[in-house]
Amino acid sequence: MHLKYIDSMKAPLFGKTLTEVQQLVLDLGLPKFTASQITNWLYKNKVSSVEQMTNLSKKARALLDEQYTIGLEAPINVQTSVDGTKKYLFKAGGGFIESAFIPEGKRNTLCVSSQVGCKMRCLFCMTGKQGLQGQLSANQILNQVRSIPEHEQLTNLVYMGMGEPFDNLKSVMRSLEILTADWGYGWSPKRITVSTIGIVPAMKHFLENSRCHLAVSLHTPFESERKMLMPVSHKYPVDDILKEIKSHDLGRQRRVSFEYIVFKGLNDSPRHVKELARILNGIRCRINLIRFHQIPNTPLESTDEKRLLAFQEELKAKGIVTTIRASRGQDIDAACGLLSTKEMVNQEGIKKEIREN
Ligand code: SF4
Repeated sequence: MHLKYIDSMKAPLFGKTLTEVQQLVLDLGLPKFTASQITNWLYKNKVSSVEQMTNLSKKARALLDEQYTIGLEAPINVQTSVDGTKKYLFKAGGGFIESAFIPEGKRNTLCVSSQVGCKMRCLFCMTGKQGLQGQLSANQILNQVRSIPEHEQLTNLVYMGMGEPFDNLKSVMRSLEILTADWGYGWSPKRITVSTIGIVPAMKHFLENSRCHLAVSLHTPFESERKMLMPVSHKYPVDDILKEIKSHDLGRQRRVSFEYIVFKGLNDSPRHVKELARILNGIRCRINLIRFHQIPNTPLESTDEKRLLAFQEELKAKGIVTTIRASRGQDIDAACGLLSTKEMVNQEGIKKEIREN
């Protein structure tokens, strides 16, 4: 695979918001209108070098080129699943990150990472076992979208890869602005879903400042169980998360979903159905049931298919829209909860590729 690397002496232009570009244009002493010309080249015309910005004067291009580069970085590896899912590996944020491309009929979804590893230590997640190794910039988040071969075919984007998006709020919000702004990619916010384990202040900021969909990892309605599964619940209990969501008028366009990994004998009982119906009452939402993908050193097990389907029916009978998420890319560890790059440098193939570049 051909690799391009960011010139470490120059700052990347890709991933900058219009406001940031306006500032740098001002700092370089260039005419004000140059800023929108630059964002057009970056996000609409998709250039890969400053030289290609042909409606900028030669002087402007030379000045820009002295300090800035476009800043795109190709993936260093790709694995393809039998079901067509592709897992891309990128070098970023002082480590490695993964993104999963998931084709599904007319829908092509990319699941992006927002951090290198994660500090949240959810019991069921491989990324959590890795710890936090670095934050991603808006450039590094959006580079996952821009630098894969399927870039033009993408219909949907989910922030459900490595990391907790709201533990890297600034970069995530910048990336959403670039994706949805008229001067940026101009995507409808309805094509984007940001997932969180419920970091309440950041979630509040997101709900107030973005129109993208929200997915909350719930996994159980009972606080004591949630604390065991997700240590974050000690700080942000379910009650606080739901109270915050209920305080926003999300209209009919914006979707809130609750992610629910169904564990055998832990959170799949009629008692859980009853409590879910009680706590979600008054929120227009859906529940996404997810099969647990076994990871090492955890006592957790996935519920069986029969119980999964029955659990879905019981929730539906309570009037809750409930779907079961298809497991994709399991054979290449691209399915939910399996993304991890902790051991990456130990893999000979990757090590070789990194050495060569
Ligand atoms: S589930 Fe999300 S928040 Fe929890 S450890 Fe994994 S990546 Fe972090």
